[in-house]
Amino acid sequence: MFKRILIANRGEIALRIIRTCKRLNIETVVVYSQADKDAVYLKLADRAICIGPGPAKASYLKVNTIIAAAEIGDVEAVHPGYGFLSENAHFAEVCRACKITFIGPPTQVIETLGNKISARQLAKAAGVPTVPGSEGALSNVEEALAISQKIGYPVLLKAAAGGGGRGMRICHNDASLRMYFTQASNEAEVAFGDGTVYLEKYIESARHIEVQILADEHGNVIHLGERDCTIQRRNQKLIEESPSLAPGFGKRERYDIQVAAVRLMKTAKYANAGTVEFIYDIKAGKFYFMEVNTRLQVEHPVTEMVTGLDLVEEQLRVASGEPLRFRQKDIQFLGHAIECRINAEDPRNGFMPSPGKIGMFLPPAGNNIRMDTHMYAGYTVPPNYDSLLGKLIVHGLTRKEALLRMRFALDQMVLEGVANTASFLREILQDANFVAGSYDTSFVNKRVGPT
Ligand code: ADP
Ligand code: ADP
Ligand code: MG
Repeated sequence: MFKRILIANRGEIALRIIRTCKRLNIETVVVYSQADKDAVYLKLADRAICIGPGPAKASYLKVNTIIAAAEIGDVEAVHPGYGFLSENAHFAEVCRACKITFIGPPTQVIETLGNKISARQLAKAAGVPTVPGSEGALSNVEEALAISQKIGYPVLLKAAAGGGGRGMRICHNDASLRMYFTQASNEAEVAFGDGTVYLEKYIESARHIEVQILADEHGNVIHLGERDCTIQRRNQKLIEESPSLAPGFGKRERYDIQVAAVRLMKTAKYANAGTVEFIYDIKAGKFYFMEVNTRLQVEHPVTEMVTGLDLVEEQLRVASGEPLRFRQKDIQFLGHAIECRINAEDPRNGFMPSPGKIGMFLPPAGNNIRMDTHMYAGYTVPPNYDSLLGKLIVHGLTRKEALLRMRFALDQMVLEGVANTASFLREILQDANFVAGSYDTSFVNKRVGPT
């Protein structure tokens, strides 16, 4: 196991990684930008190194500076967290060239799976169903029109390099496809530095179901069950749970999706933790591969709650060369877990980001309640990064019990000073359709409009 690692991230996930390292007696070096100089977790790390000014481009995304910090900190490995450089194959490669272990899959695997088109091709090769759509990149609008007429509207234009719920356009007919084609490609070029777009049938009533994978460098691949992340706004997850109790998603479907995810990751020669995301067509009762996230995910705690495992610990073990400690049959699933993302966004004002100074803050507590957050009373949320303030996770023996516990946990939480999504989440948790489990990915948009 490693003696010292560098955490190339910030916020709640930096703190969450430090916690596991402390428990395992691994020293931590954390990097921070000037905007994060007052982050309280900096004191928990063994060493904190400033890597530049607030804008991520000048700090958390600066490969050479982070590598320099790793050299100065004399670490053996780098944990990239999520977002920032976590899915950047170049960064992973530079780490390896500098004899620093990148805590994630091999560079080649990040490259193949990081591009949604090559990932789709790999899924097909592994015999995993993909959403009907274009074979690969679309070279012109005529090609897009021909495919759409064949598979039928609505279709979804997607950026091959997309992420974070961005770079997607629903097209309902030839005219809107013509209009969006260039727009989508230009936007992808600006946002991701790659204007390549492809096309999928748009599944109108769908659930987002993803499978957590754990794999080692010796060819062993297991799954840790699925998560349902259907409650989304602008294709970004707000509430996640495990297991998925989607209508029609029974024992058979659960088994099939898990087996498909494992097969795909075996074909990809995957190592470390990763997630295979699927879109589940409720009407057809069918699931299709969507993408792979080659990193730890924001919502990994719900899986930790139902399996009793620490995913960061398993990541560290695998990255240090250990074989998996568990076979598939050793993994036990207990009860139901739910996570709510608390964002500094104003639900009454189109979910505008609202950085600023936190006033009172009292995190909820109690049996089977976990809150992962870096905030504290008096903390100033910087405007430079995404708006995630923390994640509230609860566990119950049944979904009903977990829902009640989540409501009570949200009621207990005191969070003042910045507009945030807690009240909005509370409303969703009271919604009859949400409670009954009858909803799809359009649930939030139908409530608040497609802002
Ligand atoms: P998860 O799949 O773990 O739920 P998200 O989609 O919420 O992850 O993304 C995790 C974080 O990474 C978010 O803060 C999101 O804004 C950011 N992110 C993910 N992909 C990209 C990308 N390609 N470019 C920029 N930010 C991204
Ligand atoms: P990202 O990399 O931004 O996470 P994904 O491909 O995972 O992109 O898609 C994000 C979300 O967009 C999904 O969770 C789902 O809600 C929606 N989505 C993606 N593809 C489709 C599709 N073919 N049909 C319907 N919804 C889709
Ligand atoms: Mg996704």
